[in-house]
Formats: sequence, structure tokens, C-alpha cells
Amino acid sequence: MVEFDGFGPEKILEVYNPKVGMHGFVVIDNTALGPGKGGIRMTPSVSIDEVAKLARVMTWKCALAELPFGGAKSGIIADPRTITLEKKYEIIAAFAEATKIVSPELYVAAPDINTGEKEMEIYAKTNGSMKSVTGKPKELGGLPHELGSTGFGVYHATRIAAEFKEIDLSEATIAIEGFGNVGSFAAKFLSEAGAKLIGVSDIGGLAVNEKGLNYEKLIEARDKKGSVIHYPNAKILPHHDIVSLDVDILVTAAIPDLIKIADVENIKAKIIVEGSNIPMTHEVEKNLTKKGVLVIPDFVANAGGVISSYVEYIGGKQEQMFRLVEEKITKNLKLVLEQMHDYGYPRGAALHIAKQRVLEKCVTCKI
Ligand code: NAD
Repeated sequence: MVEFDGFGPEKILEVYNPKVGMHGFVVIDNTALGPGKGGIRMTPSVSIDEVAKLARVMTWKCALAELPFGGAKSGIIADPRTITLEKKYEIIAAFAEATKIVSPELYVAAPDINTGEKEMEIYAKTNGSMKSVTGKPKELGGLPHELGSTGFGVYHATRIAAEFKEIDLSEATIAIEGFGNVGSFAAKFLSEAGAKLIGVSDIGGLAVNEKGLNYEKLIEARDKKGSVIHYPNAKILPHHDIVSLDVDILVTAAIPDLIKIADVENIKAKIIVEGSNIPMTHEVEKNLTKKGVLVIPDFVANAGGVISSYVEYIGGKQEQMFRLVEEKITKNLKLVLEQMHDYGYPRGAALHIAKQRVLEKCVTCKI
């Protein structure tokens, strides 16, 4: 059951084309600040409820980053593993055609699970407006994923958190969970700032070296041998051991629910930066805060991707993207840290700020 509250969702559009075999939906959570922004998720199990929850997160993420976007998300029920690529593209085109009634005016799409640049190109061309979607190929004005905007934002969030905790980043020890788009770019920028990577994990396991892991060698191990566990001279441990490594800062960049309540007592990091989405429950965040660990919430730390989407949306270039990601994450995280004690933990302050920004512009909201 979708939960409706004083903010939304404003509109839920379900679309169906039996001839193509397309069945999907768009949840437009709130458009007080601008058209709802959010990716298209294609999985066999995607539901309106799941999409509605993700759309709400987008409302807060865009508000906190001070972007002229609201929150939205869409889902297409299909299993890309069991259909041809041709069929997948046909489904995307049918979805884009059916959602023209809300996009681009009220919905701006983006990639999500199982959708990427090619799907965004099809969406844009079928819709007829390049403003209907971000994450397009470079030739259509897209800002490539390979620029690492989210990891760059995670780096700046880490930098601000370290300053707040009076930890010198150039001498800090770091663990990074996940070495994909977010984790590898966070690792790159953190290493460039002089921080020491002690542990890095991926699907293969956890590579640890107390003397420090070299970023280029991590990339080589991943790209040439398939996993960071092939790093030379590293101790290899199970993934989950990353949670209790003796480091100053832990960056999450892979799976949801990584840190459970039972892990709290074993955590040695002074700062946890949530590069991934929902790496722990709010209850775990509160418990860590009580323990003195500074937890930077996901929708604050990983907003680099949506900030980059905004730059693409206005036709900007990569230099502008890097500048805006740095400026917005720095300014808004500082604001959150200033207010966190009034709301119990950083997420409480971040949510309060985001809600206030939406309420100021919202004519339909009721609290
Ligand atoms: P990705 O697919 O590029 O990389 C995922 C990484 O996690 C890979 O290195 C994979 O090997 C690793 N991994 C998988 N299972 C693991 C496990 N059990 N332990 C350790 N590592 C494991 O994904 P990504 O784009 O980097 O996204 C990572 C997280 O960040 C996700 O939660 C995603 O929703 C979130 N996020 C991503 C973006 C973005 O722009 N890419 C933006 C916001 C949030």
C-alpha cells in the first residue's frame, strides 16, 4: 500500500501496452520545487510501493541539494535477463510514449537498475524533448557516469565530516565498502587528498593492508583480474569484516542493510559516510550517534549524481558539474552538521531542512 501524507505522492500514473508487453508506473511524489526527478527501474518485481518510497527519497534529496526538482521515480515490470535487447528497447519506447502526458513537465527520468544511457536515448527520442531525461549519451548532451559525480560528492561529504570531527583527512585511515562507480571514485578522490585506504571490498571480498592500498593497483586488480581481492600483498577477509575495521572513516558504497544493530558495538570508525542507499536503518544511525560516530546520511552524501543530472538538464558541462557538486554538498552538509544536535542525529536535521524547503514552496502540502 502506498502511504500518502501531507507531501504526496501527488500523482501515480500506471501505464500498460499489452501489444508490446509494457506495464509500468510513474510516481510523482512532490513537484513544489520543480518537475519530479527520478530513475526508471526495470525489474520483474518492481512495485508501486517500492517506487513510491524511492520517489519520496528523491523529494528530500533534491530539496536538500537545493535543486529546482521535485521527487519522482518509475518502474517497469520486466526481466531484462529473459527478454531480448530489442524487446527491452521496445518496452522503453512504449513506456516513454505512454508517459509523455507527464514528462518532461512533471517528470524527468534517469537511469536506475537495468536502465542506462541507451535506454535514456530511446526515452528522449520517443518523448521528443531532451529535457525529459538525464543520463543520456554524450552526443545528446549527457554527462557520463564515468566522470564519477557521486563518488566526487561522497569525497566532499567525507572531507566536511572529517573537518567537523577535527580529523586531518591527509592522515586519516579509510575503509570503502564497494568498488564500483561510487566506491572507486570516492577512493580516487580520497587517495588524492592523501588519505590512506586500509580496506576496500567488492563482491569478491575484502582486501586489507594496514600500510595502505594504492588506488591505481586497486583499479588494476579489479579491471584485469575481476576483483580487489587480487590486490598484491593484501590480506583477504570476508566482505562483512569491513564494518569492524580499525579505521577513522568508513565509506559505504555497495549493499543496503550493511550495518546491523549487532554491528554497532564492533564499529571503530569515527565517521561513516553513506555513499550507498540505506546501508543501515534509522535506528542503527541513532545508536551509532549515541556511541559518538558521525553518520552522514545517504541522501546528503550521495547527491552528486542528481546534481550532475541537473547540470545536464540545463545543458551545462563537466567543469560546472564538478563545481556545483562540491559547492552544494559542502554548503548543505555544513548546515546539517550545525543543526544535528537539535534533531538527535544528522538525518533528523537533514530531513527537517529538506521538509522546510519543500513546505515553503508547496501550495498543496498540509502538515
Ligand atoms: P556499482 O554496480 O557500480 O558497484 C557496486 C559495487 O559493490 C561493486 O564493486 C560490487 O562488486 C560491490 N559489491 C556487491 N556486493 C557486495 C558486498 N556484499 N560487499 C562488498 N561489495 C559488494 O554500483 P554503484 O553505482 O557504485 O552504486 C553503489 C551504491 O550507491 C548503491 O546503493 C546505489 O544505489 C548507490 N548510489 C549510486 C549512485 C550513482 O550515481 N552510481 C548515486 C546514488 C546512490
